[in-house]
Amino acid sequence: MEFTLDEMREHLAALEARITEACKIAGRSRDSVKLVWVSKFHPAEAVENAIALGATDFGENRVQEAELKFSTPRTAKDGSRVRCHVIGPVQSNKLKKAAIVADCIHSIASIEAVEKLEKVCAALPGESGAGKILDILFQVNAGEEETKSGLDVHEAEAFLADLESRGASAYPHLRFRGLMTIGKNTGVAEDSRECFAFLRSLQQKFLAKGGVFANFDQLSMGMTGDLEVAIEEGSTMIRVGTALFGERDYSKPVNDPV
Ligand SMILES: *Cc1c(COP(=O)(O)O)cnc(C)c1O
Repeated sequence: MEFTLDEMREHLAALEARITEACKIAGRSRDSVKLVWVSKFHPAEAVENAIALGATDFGENRVQEAELKFSTPRTAKDGSRVRCHVIGPVQSNKLKKAAIVADCIHSIASIEAVEKLEKVCAALPGESGAGKILDILFQVNAGEEETKSGLDVHEAEAFLADLESRGASAYPHLRFRGLMTIGKNTGVAEDSRECFAFLRSLQQKFLAKGGVFANFDQLSMGMTGDLEVAIEEGSTMIRVGTALFGERDYSKPVNDPV
């Protein structure tokens, strides 16, 4: 059963209390952490409820599900346009669709994907009619788990250095915004601290280089189970599903073609 609007409001208040407390402990302002509402496996009505509660940013794992819910532009309560973040791995043949529906893709992990996205975005109309500018983050498998996708933790730095060597003119339609990781799935939030700290040090190192990394100021880390630790370690975008929408029912995928 999906939450009612009132239930969701209560869950949001509880989550906000967690975020505020973590920000306080970390000596950070609440504004420095963006909440991305992970709506995967929840229907369009849940998205509408979230928007009514002030949500501006949504995360989806699968491109088809993102298209279903976010192809139609929507206005958030604050008057901004609702943004869609693609946070799951995207197959090469789905990159174009991802670039169309997403404002930001968090899960890029190969030079091939970067090259393809640049071509695809150059050919999209975008807001000016002269190509779409897409924000991307690079996913690092900082938890070093076999089942997780992303750049190998030992290769991430070389990968970023390679991008840098290609120069600022190589990717005029892409904005490299930062790094993303999924913490360790041990059920103990503290276990993810080290990989979050590693991500931050790598992100800071490349942000300091400027050039193609001039906008590299984002760290997408922290989910329902480990968002406090992520905020303490510098997260700027937490991706939260369960704490807002409740448990996902994986037997009911929201991917029927429209
Ligand atoms: C599903 C998912 C989330 C949200 O996880 P919760 O534990 O439900 O908050 C965050 N990030 C990614 C990449 C996901 O796939």
